[in-house]
Amino acid sequence: VVEAEEVEKWFGPAQVLKGVSLTVKRGEVVVIVGASGSGKTTFVRCINHLEKIQKGRIMVNGHLIGYREARGRLIEDSERNIARQRREIGMVFQRFNLFPHLTALGNITEAPVQVLGVDQATAQAEAMALLTRVGLGDKAAAYPAQLSGGQQQRVAIARALAMKPTLMLFDEPTSALDPEMVGEVLEVMKELARDGMTMIVVTHEMGFAREVADRVVMMDAGKVVEEAPPEIFFTAPKSDRTRAFLARVA
Ligand code: ATP
Repeated sequence: VVEAEEVEKWFGPAQVLKGVSLTVKRGEVVVIVGASGSGKTTFVRCINHLEKIQKGRIMVNGHLIGYREARGRLIEDSERNIARQRREIGMVFQRFNLFPHLTALGNITEAPVQVLGVDQATAQAEAMALLTRVGLGDKAAAYPAQLSGGQQQRVAIARALAMKPTLMLFDEPTSALDPEMVGEVLEVMKELARDGMTMIVVTHEMGFAREVADRVVMMDAGKVVEEAPPEIFFTAPKSDRTRAFLARVA
């Protein structure tokens, strides 16, 4: 589903991604870990072109993300094409970014109705099914301010799923939550993984990585320094960087 090749990204003079390559197959769950500032968030944002890249390329479902080839060179794609590509990619952020003036149900139906042209009744039925799936069947009429952080994040996941994405990106989805709410969000993500969703997850939750990841990817200073199934990553890491990181967090 995802093929990133030698992605390089600068913010002004600072190079934040120094040739990141990653392949994710359909149904795989890849967890990206690494110290703060290693480029995890930036990399995930590049996958749906929330950030421009300066070198390398990213393909999602066989399509080049954000750019098109013209006379052998890559030029940035039109807003319209980028928007179309993003529809296939669900994204859940650290902050839930729900629309405050819409109910949980309204937040979920908004994009299918406005962007995909799904009719209200169908969108509402699908949204109710999604709310039930994330354990919030009784919160359809609640506004974000009436929901806990964990509940808001579950609505945000349901909202992303409403677009029927083929890939879900999670950027530290639990790090803004009170500790007692982390579990309920991870549980929803585990369900999603079990249902076969292709997922890339940036997280500091090592338990989740151990339990759910097919592969764990360690980033350090803008590079992938290790990539292994969790049973190897956590017990017999090859890189010194990984060992040092695990000694701190695991
Ligand atoms: P964290 O776990 O803290 O979120 P991270 O591994 O996700 O860290 P990034 O957020 O990708 O790291 O940041 C990588 C580097 O890029 C950092 O040094 C950060 O300061 C820098 N950076 C990120 N966004 C910008 C920006 N918009 N402008 C300039 N520098 C940025």
